[in-house]
Parts: sequence; C-alpha cells; structure tokens
Amino acid sequence: MPLVSMNEFLPRAKANKFAVGQFNMNNLEFAQAIMEAAEELKSPFIYGVSEGALKYMGIEFTVAIAEAAAKKSGLPIALHLDHGSSFEVAMKCIRAGFSSVMFDGSHHSFEENIRLTKEVVKAARAMGVSVEGELGTIGGVEDDLSVDEADASLAKPEEAIRFYEETGVDCLAIAVGTAHGMYAGEPNIRFDIIEKVASAIPIPVVLHGGSGVPDDMIFKSIAAGVGKINVNTENQVACTEAIREALNKDGKIYDPRKYLTPARKAMVEVVKSKILLFGSSNQA
Ligand SMILES: [Zn+2]
Repeated sequence: MPLVSMNEFLPRAKANKFAVGQFNMNNLEFAQAIMEAAEELKSPFIYGVSEGALKYMGIEFTVAIAEAAAKKSGLPIALHLDHGSSFEVAMKCIRAGFSSVMFDGSHHSFEENIRLTKEVVKAARAMGVSVEGELGTIGGVEDDLSVDEADASLAKPEEAIRFYEETGVDCLAIAVGTAHGMYAGEPNIRFDIIEKVASAIPIPVVLHGGSGVPDDMIFKSIAAGVGKINVNTENQVACTEAIREALNKDGKIYDPRKYLTPARKAMVEVVKSKILLFGSSNQA
C-alpha cells in the first residue's frame, strides 16, 4: 500500500471515538518498532517527522523508510511533517513524497497564521496531502522548538472554530494544557476547550505532548473529540533506557545490533500500549 493522507482514517476516528497515534520517527529502529506494533494490532498510524529529525535522517531516507513500511505492512500509514515552520519546508516534504504536513503558524499573529495555513492547504490539497494546523502555543521542548510553560497560551474556542472555517485544515492542534517532553506532575488538560471546538467543527482535534498523559485523561480527551495523539518522548526514553541497560550489563559490547535490538523491542511495547489505549487497533 502506498502512503496515505490522514483523511484515510481521521474522519472515521472522530466518528467512532478513537484516536490515531502519531509516533515520531527518529531513525530506522523507531520506524521498524512503530510498524511492528501497528502490524500486530492492525492499526493505522502516522509517522511524525520533525524538521530536526528530517535533518538527522535526510529526506530521502525518511521517505524511503516510510514507503518501505507501508509496502511491507499493507497498513494505512501517513508520513507527516511535524511542526513545519514554513510554506517552503512543507512543499519540500510534499515534493519528496510526504502524504501529510503540519504547518505550525502559532508563533505568528492569528490573522497571519490563517493566511499562511491557507496557502499550505491550497497547495497540499491539490496533491492529495492532508494538513494539520496549530492554534495557541504548546509548552515544553521538542527539537529546536522551545516554549516556556509560562508563555504557552491556550487556544480560544471561537478562534479555533474560525481558524478551521477559513483554512479548511484536516485536523487542528490546539493548545489545551499538554506540553512536549515529560511532565513533572500531571498535565492540566482543558477538556472543555476540546469539547467546544470539536463539537463545532467536523474535523478532529490533535493532542500534542501525549507522552506521560494519564490513561483516564486520554480517554476523556478522545471522548471530547481528539482524533490524533502525538507520542515521541516515551519512545525516546524507552529506547535510551534499553540501550543504557544493555551497555551497563556488558561493557564489552561493540556490535550496535546488540543494544539496538532491545531498544527496538522496548519501543514496540510502548507503541502497542498506546494503540490499545487510543482504541485504534483493528481499525486498519
Ligand atoms: Zn507537537
């Protein structure tokens, strides 16, 4: 199966109250682990690729790996640019074979964000590529993106609804209290904002910063209208912990496969648990 746009599964996710996971791809082992977990549970999924990961892996390798996973598994997989910062980078990804892009214009003014997102949607739609927009700023650190929690501003429901109406995005990330990275305590998620926005527009809301969000909050978010949840940090932690453990156990290891195999296994378990939690198993 070729890579698909998120419209292949997001409308169904919203209608049937489940969420599709965006799992970020940082290298080959991440991509393999995510695919293996999804294959076992017959789940659609999204490979998220940040601009930092794109630089690290190279755009050609990124697309080739995702295409190989889609072909091998037969699953509906979207390859999605995460937090794209400009029209140019979004177009570069689409030209290279991405089936979905996020344009994050949240650091611009509201009107400018609408104007820029509209341009991306117009170009992407012509190519059958789905688009995620962002409103309000999500706190925490992801790649070179760092937003002070104090500066993170929640989305205003009326603005989110107008943003959708004017841009026609396929899903919308709104800042509702989650943050990138790991949480010190528990996040304070504004389910009322999710509900207000999701009930007024036909597309699902996206929850960024899904790592470490307690299960009951995930269920409540999905019930309120979240249809896509992003997870990266938990896989990074599982990967690194497994490598650290393998190296600590045997200081003589020099074959990367000896520590990357347990790392990959650890990520398969993380992704499987998320797919079950999000309710996207058997939805492929
Ligand atoms: Zn994010």
